[in-house]
Amino acid sequence: HVRQILSWRPPSLRLEGVDEDHFNLACGPGRLRHFVVSGCLALLVYNLFLLADARMIPDVYPQAVQMRLYTFSPVALLMLLCGVCFKNMVLRIPRPMLEGALMMTGVVAALHMGWLLQHSNSPYAGMYTAGLMPITIYGNLVQRFRFRYALVFSLVVMATCLACVWARSDRVNPYDVFDVPLALLVAVIAIYTLAMNYRFELEERRRFQWQVRAQVLHKELAASQVQLDELSRQDPLTGVPNRRHVDAYLQQQWEQAKLRGDELALLLMDVDHFKAFNDRYGHPAGDQCLKHVAMALQRQVPPQIGCVARWGGEEFIVVLPRAQLHAAMKRAQGLCKAVHGLGLRHDAAPAFGCVTISVGVAVVRPASDSVNDAIDSLIAQADAALYRAKASGRNRAEPALSPVSC
Ligand code: GH3
Ligand code: MG
Ligand code: MG
Repeated sequence: HVRQILSWRPPSLRLEGVDEDHFNLACGPGRLRHFVVSGCLALLVYNLFLLADARMIPDVYPQAVQMRLYTFSPVALLMLLCGVCFKNMVLRIPRPMLEGALMMTGVVAALHMGWLLQHSNSPYAGMYTAGLMPITIYGNLVQRFRFRYALVFSLVVMATCLACVWARSDRVNPYDVFDVPLALLVAVIAIYTLAMNYRFELEERRRFQWQVRAQVLHKELAASQVQLDELSRQDPLTGVPNRRHVDAYLQQQWEQAKLRGDELALLLMDVDHFKAFNDRYGHPAGDQCLKHVAMALQRQVPPQIGCVARWGGEEFIVVLPRAQLHAAMKRAQGLCKAVHGLGLRHDAAPAFGCVTISVGVAVVRPASDSVNDAIDSLIAQADAALYRAKASGRNRAEPALSPVSC
C-alpha cells in the first residue's frame, strides 16, 4: 500500500510507452551529480543563516548552532560524501528511498526552523518565519525534489509556518501585524515553486520520452536500411544476388586479388535455347526453370568459394576468387553437369532434351589500376568464350582464348 502511494504521480507525469525504471535508471547519475553540487551550495547557505539567527533569535542561538552545525551538517555531509564516493552503491538504492531521503533534508531543515521559532521569545521571531522561504526554494527549485515529494515537502513547510504563527499567537509580539502577510508569502512561494517544480519534471519526462522514441525510430530506420540494402542486391525472381551486388563484389575481389597477387576467375553462363523453352512451356514455366537453375548453381558455388548472381535475362555470372584457369574450368564443367542433372524437360532443345547451360570462363591476375575498364575487359573475354561454347554445341564450358591481362 505504501509502495502504491509512493508510486503515485499526476497523470500527465506518467511516461507513455517508456518504463518508469528505465527513466529512473537513465536520470540517476545526472540527478546524483545535481544533488551533490546543489547540496554543497545549500549546506553552505544553510549554515550562513547562523548569522541571521544570531540577530533575529539570539535567545535560542546555541540551539541553532547545535541544530545547524552539529546535527544537520554532519548528516548532510555524510550524504554528500556517499553521493561522491559510493555513486554506484547509492544508485542501486530503490528510487523511492533515495528521493525520500533527499526530501527529508528539506523537511528536517523546515522543522528545525519551526522549532527555533516556536521556542524563541525574541520579538523578531515572528518575522523570521520568512526563513522558511529559502528552505522552500531549496526543495522545490534548487534540489528539485520529484514532484510528489515536493508536494509533501511544501505541505510540511506550510504546516510548520502555520504552527509557528499559531504557537506564537498568545505571546506578546510587537510585530504581530507581519504574521499573516508572512504566512501568506510562504504559502505563495510554496505554490509558485511547486508549480515550477511540476513544469521542470514534466519537461524532463517529455524530453526523455522523445529521446527513447527517437532511439527506437533510429534503430528501426537502421534495420530497414539494412533490409532495403539486402533487397536492392537481390534478384526478386530467383533470390540469388543481382548485378548490382556482383558488380560491388567483383570490385572488392579485384582489389583483394591485386593485393595478394592471386588470380580471379569469372564464369559467364547462359541457359541454352531458352526462348524456345518459353515458347514451348510458357513464361511462368520459364520463370520456374530459372529458379531451379539458380538454385543448382548456388549449390555448386557456396559463399565461401565464390558468388553466383543473375546477370540479366537467362544469364548468370559466377565470380571465383583465388581460382586458376584449371580449377575454374573444372568448376564450370561441374555447373554444366549440375544443370543438366536437374533433368528439366526441354523438348524444344535439339540435342539434349533437357535444360542445359553454356559457360564462358576468363581468368585474370589483376594488376591494372583502372578497375572498371579491366573488369569490362574480363567480362568481354568471358562473353566471347561463352559465344564459342554456344557455337561448339552448347552444354559446355570454354576458356578465354588468350590469357587475360588486365
Ligand atoms: P541461346 O541458346 O543461344 O542462348 O538461345 P536463347 O533462346 O536462350 O537466347 P535468346 O537470347 O534468344 O533468348 C533468351 C530468352 O530468355 C528470351 C527471353 O524471353 C527469355 N527471358 C529473359 N528473361 C526471362 C525471365 O525472367 N523469365 C522468362 N521466363 N524468360 C526470360
Ligand atoms: Mg542470352
Ligand atoms: Mg540463352
